[in-house]
Amino acid sequence: MASVFTKIINGEIPCYKIAENEHYFSFLDINPVAEGHTLVVPKKEIDYLFDLDDETLTGLLTFSKKIAKGIDKALSTIRTGVIVEGMEVPHAHVHLVPIHFEGQPMSLGRTSDISKERMQEVAELIRNAVEL
Ligand code: AMP
Repeated sequence: MASVFTKIINGEIPCYKIAENEHYFSFLDINPVAEGHTLVVPKKEIDYLFDLDDETLTGLLTFSKKIAKGIDKALSTIRTGVIVEGMEVPHAHVHLVPIHFEGQPMSLGRTSDISKERMQEVAELIRNAVEL
């Protein structure tokens, strides 16, 4: 069965899309640790990040860099942190978590309450700031 992320990539499940290219797709995490929390996934559905072939793995990081730079610009962050866990969704992905203030909690279990309207706004801000 296709992963929830493959369904998002295929447009079968809605998302707050940020950007995509031939190999990668990025969208807001629906349970954000902080405003602008973004996921970056390879379109190739492989569960474990370190089972990705070298080219896909390095490309994922390069694509993530472009998204992170867009997040930094759009949201005037201190910087953007990276988390990889992968215990919930069996489709390799990178979490990009904008750091808005020093000491900001960064653990994945913690969710910020952000309205749908604000999620849409934030996605648009990041989308417009990303340069692929
Ligand atoms: P993990 O597999 O532990 O790295 O976490 C998977 C992440 O995917 C969690 O932070 C979820 O909030 C997020 N997630 C799950 N389903 C969706 C969805 N439909 N849209 C956006 N994010 C999702």
